[in-house]
Amino acid sequence: MKVAFLGLGIMGRPMAVNLVKAGNEVVVWNRTPGKIVAGASVAATPAEAAKYAEVVWLCVADTKAVEQVLFADEGVASVLRPGMIVVDSSTIAPSATCGFAERIAAKGAQFVDAPVTGSKAGAESGQLVFIVGGAEDAVQRLQPLFSAMGKKVIHIGKTGLGESAKLGMNLMAAMMFEAFAEALTLIRKLGVPAEKWWELIQSAAVRSPLIDGKAPKVFERNFAPNFPLYLMHKDVKLILQAARESGAKLPALEKVEEVYQLTSKEQQGLDYSATIAVLEKLAGL
Ligand code: NAP
Repeated sequence: MKVAFLGLGIMGRPMAVNLVKAGNEVVVWNRTPGKIVAGASVAATPAEAAKYAEVVWLCVADTKAVEQVLFADEGVASVLRPGMIVVDSSTIAPSATCGFAERIAAKGAQFVDAPVTGSKAGAESGQLVFIVGGAEDAVQRLQPLFSAMGKKVIHIGKTGLGESAKLGMNLMAAMMFEAFAEALTLIRKLGVPAEKWWELIQSAAVRSPLIDGKAPKVFERNFAPNFPLYLMHKDVKLILQAARESGAKLPALEKVEEVYQLTSKEQQGLDYSATIAVLEKLAGL
């Protein structure tokens, strides 16, 4: 298929690489020039990338970035034709997603929200899970592209529900890491050897694949970003926004957000596991 891929960050670049490997004709665009994908051509603007595409796939930072890429001057909307599909793998607000979908539909094209889970390793190995909202016929047409980048597609329902389901999942991720970080901080203060405690966690019902992935790096003090702190903070704020809009109360996540507010500017580009440094500082460790 002819695919425009917009946004070549930690996730987007390897996704575009896998689309090329699967034999698609790919044009890429990134806000900051200089990022390339072997076998893909490079466009100077989102509109130039999307001009001849059947599918336009976005993976950019946040809601504002998606809006700019789609609707600013030289944005995707200026070249949309009936029959095209716009797919958004960024994690953004479900309410904004529904608004974007309506504006895209007004041009005769379809919009599918397809945020992902699997992080950097899943993007690189083509093992992402796509969490999808949108019309069944569009999701079916996208199947070969999903298969090139991922191992599973979960079609949650109508437009916006992919993003909603993703936020529900990331709520758990933020809280699960916070639970691990607070527990590790406490046991260190109490004098429990961390390696003995980790042996216990590995044998107990609280063990989780998420913490299995994060803990060894925390023990090594390796906070190189898989999922940057600034993006998890963005998601925590999106979750709280969705809670306000829907009338849900999330008192524990509000507390976690306070921890994120205490992170320094330097920590924003590190992995979100670097939030443990806030707890260590407060504990005098
Ligand atoms: P990243 O490495 O920080 O890359 C962000 C991308 O967005 C870059 O290409 C950046 O362009 C672009 N961007 C930012 N603001 C923009 C704007 N105003 N207009 C146009 N482009 C803009 O982030 P990532 O990890 O790839 O994440 C991308 C999306 O996937 C986010 O929504 C994130 O929440 C989600 N996600 C990430 C992970 C993960 O583990 N990393 C997992 C699941 C979902 P520049 O190069 O110009 O800065």
